Amino acid sequence: MKIQEADAKSLLLAQGMPVPPWEVARTPAEAGAAAERAIAAGADSVVVKAQVLVGGRGKAGGVKLAGSAAEAEAVAAGILGMDIRGITVRKVLVSAAADIVKEFYLSAVVDRASRRILLIGSAEGGVEIEHVAEHNPDAITYLRADPIRGLLDHQARRFAFAMGLGAHWKEGAAIARGAVRTMLANDADLVEINPLAIVRETGPDGAVAERLVCLDAKITLDDSALPRHPELETLRDPDEEDPADRAAREAGIAFIKLDGTIGCMVNGAGLAMTTMDLVKRAGGEPANFLDIGGGARADKVAAAMRLILADPKVVAILVNIFGGITRGDEVARGLIEARSVQERDVPMVVRIVGTNAAAAARLLTEARFETAATLDEAAAKAVAAARAAAKVAARVAGSPA
Ligand code: GDP
Ligand code: MN
Repeated sequence: MKIQEADAKSLLLAQGMPVPPWEVARTPAEAGAAAERAIAAGADSVVVKAQVLVGGRGKAGGVKLAGSAAEAEAVAAGILGMDIRGITVRKVLVSAAADIVKEFYLSAVVDRASRRILLIGSAEGGVEIEHVAEHNPDAITYLRADPIRGLLDHQARRFAFAMGLGAHWKEGAAIARGAVRTMLANDADLVEINPLAIVRETGPDGAVAERLVCLDAKITLDDSALPRHPELETLRDPDEEDPADRAAREAGIAFIKLDGTIGCMVNGAGLAMTTMDLVKRAGGEPANFLDIGGGARADKVAAAMRLILADPKVVAILVNIFGGITRGDEVARGLIEARSVQERDVPMVVRIVGTNAAAAARLLTEARFETAATLDEAAAKAVAAARAAAKVAARVAGSPA
């Protein structure tokens, strides 16, 4: 689960990381008022940043500076409603503008190959790390931390030096350790600070000092670990969750949309992947990965059918159920029920084996469903149905009006 910059910054703050204060605004007026407060607290200018779950907001025009409350309001009016990589901006972050001396990059990710937390750092900050990796790979420094012991002091110091933080190495080491703590405390997959910046600050006495702060934050939480952190569920952004993803999550169905035309409904992740392979081998393209899980009842089957049919590209459906805990007759009942209420009729091929397969076969035959005895046969029939549908569509499109 991706969370917004403002929420990611809250998680960093909770670990004692240096993050400049901010406010979130949903209207230009709110942004103007937030800017006024920041300026009253001593800021010369403010930064207004789109809160969307995609990177590169700066390049897309979603990060702007403003020198007054009125200007902040105008800038926010331009950013709110803006489209950034297909997402409409619904809120902005307002913060005192930082006087940036230099930008760095620091992140912690899960490195599955080494089973460690991988710290990635670079003095080339403010740009995408993928870009640095491609054009200047030597500018990136890596360190693997033990997931149990975390990042040890000497490792953190070595890492901060290698990043090129110079005089700011102590702050850098503390931030590296904080990033690892943030990851462990929240079961995050990714904690990214880009830019981690040296900023120039003028104190109330006029003294100028430089310090290292987290100016941007991106955190991805491990979905499978969310039950361990019920409080983080509130950080899910309903503004940006795909409706199909939400429906799947609420129904407890593992669903990933793909680009093909053959909808797949399967129980078990391995069987779902095999089914997709067989569809491809038979010459078709799967429209989705869908695992209804073990022991699915009729209502879950109906929910899965709605998910599949919501994709307009789907022209045929392949149902492949291996009944273990899942009872074949339950699934058959779910399919019959789903078909009786669905708005769109597409050809469906059903293969159910295992627990209560005979009862399932009886129900499906009575209801005139197309069935298949083997998975190869089911895949071939689904692909043939999809081809026939494509031909009909082509004929309709090509026929004179
Ligand atoms: P991203 O483009 O989505 O990663 O958004 P960032 O928050 O990282 O902002 C992009 C860039 O805008 C940063 O790399 C900075 O160069 C610049 N920027 C962000 N905040 C400030 C700020 O407070 N002051 C100044 N001067 N520049 C900023
Ligand atoms: Mn950034």
